[in-house]
Amino acid sequence: MKKGKKLYEGKAKIIYASPEKNFVIQHFKDDATAFNNQKKSIIEGKGILNNRISEHILNSLNQIGIKNHLVKRLNMREQLVKQLEIIPIEFIVRNIATGSLTKRLGIEDGTVLDEPLIEYCLKDDSLGDPIVSPEHILVFKWMSKSEIKIVKKNILRINDFLQGMFRGINIKLVDFKVEFGRTISGAKDDIILADEISPDTCRLWDSLTDKKLDKDRFRKDLGNIIEGYQEVARRLDILHEQSNIRPIKFSKPTAVKIKKNK
Ligand code: 5GP
Repeated sequence: MKKGKKLYEGKAKIIYASPEKNFVIQHFKDDATAFNNQKKSIIEGKGILNNRISEHILNSLNQIGIKNHLVKRLNMREQLVKQLEIIPIEFIVRNIATGSLTKRLGIEDGTVLDEPLIEYCLKDDSLGDPIVSPEHILVFKWMSKSEIKIVKKNILRINDFLQGMFRGINIKLVDFKVEFGRTISGAKDDIILADEISPDTCRLWDSLTDKKLDKDRFRKDLGNIIEGYQEVARRLDILHEQSNIRPIKFSKPTAVKIKKNK
């Protein structure tokens, strides 16, 4: 499919016009940023992995009735998606306390939460994506009451489903961020999941070792970033197509020679 003109460039993705009306092409870049753009790098192959992982997750969510913008993956780095009016709120769901929550509230890192915690952040890099309350969202008319209700119901279902899916491959879903958008058909309350769900937008820890398999490897200079993402793709069983990504070196046990007592 031939790409049209660039409509928007974000930190990790570019949106291009598509030949089909009401659809756009979402391109996954290898760029990684953290701490409000203060830390930047190119991680070779990250875009390819996020494209595949997000495709897999959004297709699985579609199968359980969570409407989303994905139409189909077009190639290694691109997806055809529905054109949406993106809501300027980042929705965060947390199952285990870490990251900005622990810094903000002094909660001990790794505390398992009794219930999923939802946080809302204004999507504005120049302000550092500040946390806002549902009241702010209503007063400033970023969303209606019924839209907040729909999104809340959706993200709790997404959390339930993804927690189960990841648990099955020995991964803890610690937290994640999602975005929603309004379809441009203009039907009332037609609000669907947008953006991506990938190790860039989730915290994923190995169930046994708590090893980080997500963007925290970049944020915290842990190394082996791409190997973490590959490990997620491998466990999801979606890493069989040929790709220009280096083979996994990450979690292979080292061979240990055991001397037998004579
Ligand atoms: P925290 O608020 O602890 O930094 O992040 C909570 C969760 O939301 C993490 O899984 C993190 O990856 C995700 N998240 C929050 N803000 C952003 C963002 O601006 N971009 C991306 N890619 N993920 C985010």
